[in-house]
Amino acid sequence: MMADTPDPNTIVWFNNQFVPLAQANVNILTHALNYGTGVFEGIRGYFNESQQDLFLVRAHDHYERWKRNAGILRIQIPPSPEELAAITIELCLRNGFRSHVYARPLAYKSSARIGVAPDANDAFSIVVMPFGDYFENKKGLRAGVVSWRRVEDNAIPGRAKICGAYVNSVLATDEARRNGHDEAIFLTESGHVAEGATCNLFMVRAGRLITPPGTDNILEGITRASIIELARNEMKLEVQERSIGRSELYVCDELFFTGTAVEVAPIVEVDHRSVGSGAVGPVSARLRALYNDATRGRMPAYIRWLSPVYRGAAAGKAA
Ligand code: PMP
Repeated sequence: MMADTPDPNTIVWFNNQFVPLAQANVNILTHALNYGTGVFEGIRGYFNESQQDLFLVRAHDHYERWKRNAGILRIQIPPSPEELAAITIELCLRNGFRSHVYARPLAYKSSARIGVAPDANDAFSIVVMPFGDYFENKKGLRAGVVSWRRVEDNAIPGRAKICGAYVNSVLATDEARRNGHDEAIFLTESGHVAEGATCNLFMVRAGRLITPPGTDNILEGITRASIIELARNEMKLEVQERSIGRSELYVCDELFFTGTAVEVAPIVEVDHRSVGSGAVGPVSARLRALYNDATRGRMPAYIRWLSPVYRGAAAGKAA
């Protein structure tokens, strides 16, 4: 995994202003730090060398999801998705990023006091940093079902990227790595396959693409939605959202994870069993290539997913 500790001089958005990361600190009694009452996002930007531009991927959709899901915790994020995307673009410009980047918006209950009862004090920050591959292994991942179960919607909704809920992902990732796997696979309490610790899961069986539904405690991934769209439009594949049984993982043709950070990550081994032929399958390989092309501005039909940082700034000045 790549280095993910940004330079302390990086300019970030904190308490409604641009400040160096080193000055963006919270009190140790902050409600979110003690009780996990934050909702975060993860957005990628890809630098296209030939176009000399940086493209934020589905920034509007990420900010729309962030605002809606913050509502589960009744955290207010006043700016519109367009205004939040504009702050993110401004952060890329101020830091002069000409590499792939990752943006981490975080909205949280900000009162510094004891007591779980929430109040109306909310704050949010946005950090953008250079970012490369999440998984170094390009030949395919080894995944393993972990003993921890995915958080239940009626306990802590996994639909939202709630800070406290990520203890679930931390425990699963720790177990998976200690067992020699690259990534965890969660089951739900009812025993169905849910997703990875930080990513959604797709299976190819008998020529169909299958992924668990939003009611199986998954995070409703934006990359998942992009892959469903690419599979239907560009490959004419049938896509089914249905519950997946654990042992289907052992008899399917292909498996892959999707997510903003993990992108499209083929799985070649699950619970020490080969997936299909044991090499990256053709559907996974094709979808990975399509996703890479679409998100780097090489497919005109999907330019609508992208917010250009440098071209957008130049157009803004000209107008
Ligand atoms: N599931 C979980 C638990 C995640 O943390 C993520 C990363 N946001 C995903 C799935 C993938 O979601 P997205 O494609 O929107 O990044």
